[in-house]
Amino acid sequence: MRVPVPLDVRVWSMVDRSLTTGCWPWIGPRNRQGYGKVSIRVAKGQFVTAVAHRVIYELTRGIALEAGILVCHRCDNPPCCNPTHLFTGTAADNMADKMKKGRHVAAAGANHYMRRRPEVIVRGERHWLSKLTDEQVLEIRRALDAGVRGAALAARFGVSQALVSDIKVGRRGKRRNIYPEAGLRVRVGA
Ligand SMILES: [Zn+2]
Repeated sequence: MRVPVPLDVRVWSMVDRSLTTGCWPWIGPRNRQGYGKVSIRVAKGQFVTAVAHRVIYELTRGIALEAGILVCHRCDNPPCCNPTHLFTGTAADNMADKMKKGRHVAAAGANHYMRRRPEVIVRGERHWLSKLTDEQVLEIRRALDAGVRGAALAARFGVSQALVSDIKVGRRGKRRNIYPEAGLRVRVGA
């Protein structure tokens, strides 16, 4: 009979810990946002795909995080699993942290994981990344919250109304997978 490998052993075997003080990148599969992903068996024949650095955080702290709590990176390096680089917060905290660090703008450099790993990125006309910066997406969200009409925003930013609608819907969850801050969900059956 095959003895299953304990989760912590399996997870750590996919983390490159060769740098004592630097980032510890996940060397297994990654999701579209560049976060490591790991399959966890929850029942016979049933698996969930969890985000690797979140699992690492839980294992090293010995806690189970609530669904609304995100695990964020001090190092802004999505695949990093070094527990000392991880901290928890809400989605709002995470956005405030991004703004503070200027990551929503600075992340556009050649070193950004989207440049280093272009194959993980969603492409296509309807993907807002092809037309808008993160800051513009935030601006559109704020304007929508303030009651500005989608058609007016589409005209102002030179994009389609469908794209503005995606941003609006994405905030509610339907197209969450295109938003970096939503990279921490657990998807059942994936
Ligand atoms: Zn790191």
